[in-house]
Amino acid sequence: MQYIDNIVFLIALIAGFGLFFKSLREIYRNIKLGKKIDRTDQAPLRWKTMGKVALGQSKMTKRPIAGILHIFVYVGFIIINLELLEIIIDGIFGTKRFLAPVFGPGLYAFFTSTLEILALLVVIAVVLFFIRRNFYGVKRLNMKELFGWPKEDANWILVIEFALMVAFFTMNAADYYSDSQQFAGNFPVSRHLFGFFSGFDEGTLHIVEKSAWWFHFIGILFFMNYLYYSKHLHIILAFPNTWFANLEPKLKFNNLDSVTREIKLMMDPNADPYAAPPETDPNAVPETFGASDVFDLNQVQLLNAYSCTECGRCTAVCPANITGKKLSPRKIMMDTRDRIEEVGKNINKNGKFVDDGKKLLDDHILREEVWACTTCSACVEACPVLIDPLSIIVELRRFLVMEQSSAPQELNLMMTNVENNAAPWQYNQADRLNWANE
Ligand code: SF4
Ligand code: SF4
Repeated sequence: MQYIDNIVFLIALIAGFGLFFKSLREIYRNIKLGKKIDRTDQAPLRWKTMGKVALGQSKMTKRPIAGILHIFVYVGFIIINLELLEIIIDGIFGTKRFLAPVFGPGLYAFFTSTLEILALLVVIAVVLFFIRRNFYGVKRLNMKELFGWPKEDANWILVIEFALMVAFFTMNAADYYSDSQQFAGNFPVSRHLFGFFSGFDEGTLHIVEKSAWWFHFIGILFFMNYLYYSKHLHIILAFPNTWFANLEPKLKFNNLDSVTREIKLMMDPNADPYAAPPETDPNAVPETFGASDVFDLNQVQLLNAYSCTECGRCTAVCPANITGKKLSPRKIMMDTRDRIEEVGKNINKNGKFVDDGKKLLDDHILREEVWACTTCSACVEACPVLIDPLSIIVELRRFLVMEQSSAPQELNLMMTNVENNAAPWQYNQADRLNWANE
């Protein structure tokens, strides 16, 4: 019977991790569909940024209550991993609490008590998050783009985390009240929460402990594989995402040298149009300007889309959104992820991408959204995992202007004025001080 248990465990483990790595490979393949971008400079600063923002959650604590609660849940994720290590060894070798003799009684008691206290904090955080999300009416958590699956997803994650923690406590309490307890664990939370277990006989406690142990293990495998379909993917991707973040000052755009030179010639009446152009990298001039689909975005922008937590902190500070425009930077990221997943499914089905007649622009993100942006960069500043929705908006605009000559009427007028008058207004430069005459 013992061996059957071990074999079933091993099959479940291999299947769970196999599916998980298959999903990760698919995400990696999809991200590689984007354009290459070199973000490997300043490696020490990148490690520091990742440590501070992804591991240290430095931007989350700008809203202290939600930030601290989020840190509890994040610690819960680490607990799951520590627990998983012991579960895997016990499951494969048929041992019972493998780490107890390795750590020794004192240290193992400290280890198990710490995990229990952290697990309790996770339960508290998860319950508060559930109440806040569903009953408290926080505006950014109840916006249109979250209707349907995104809202259900957020709730499911909380429910799964709650269930995993309850199974963890049940397993510990059953062990605590069992006479055959052979190890020196200390369970300060579960032994009180499940004090009624003291009335159970050995056989019942054994069944309860085994059931909770299996539930916990299968739950972790399920959770791991659920990530692929969820915004919760950020618990993994926040790390590479912050490492590859844009380290340039905010609002510094990636202007093209050739275009900048043209503008300078236009703006400066003394410039020599026949001067030799500065040496530029021929690869710096792209085949198409801007982006109309995910293939035109760079790989970090696609990684951004997969890493978005859908928290809405960007949308909450977006002046366009606040003043009732259609734009929501969170939706820009969600739409980009939806499109890359649509492309991924297309590749899975056909072996390669077959034109589906759709694009990111127009089929997912509307022009009205793109033109509503003030390019203020508040969304970039607000994002807790250093995502840059503005860069995607700018690429979509660049496509519209430079490939389709399709800008709103007001902008076209302004650009014509710049071209003719070297100023955005509809009169000659020489007349610019006429207002002072009156
Ligand atoms: S840059 Fe655009 S999308 Fe971002 S906050 Fe400002 S207006 Fe909103
Ligand atoms: S882009 Fe950043 S701030 Fe906006 S929803 Fe995603 S994770 Fe939150």
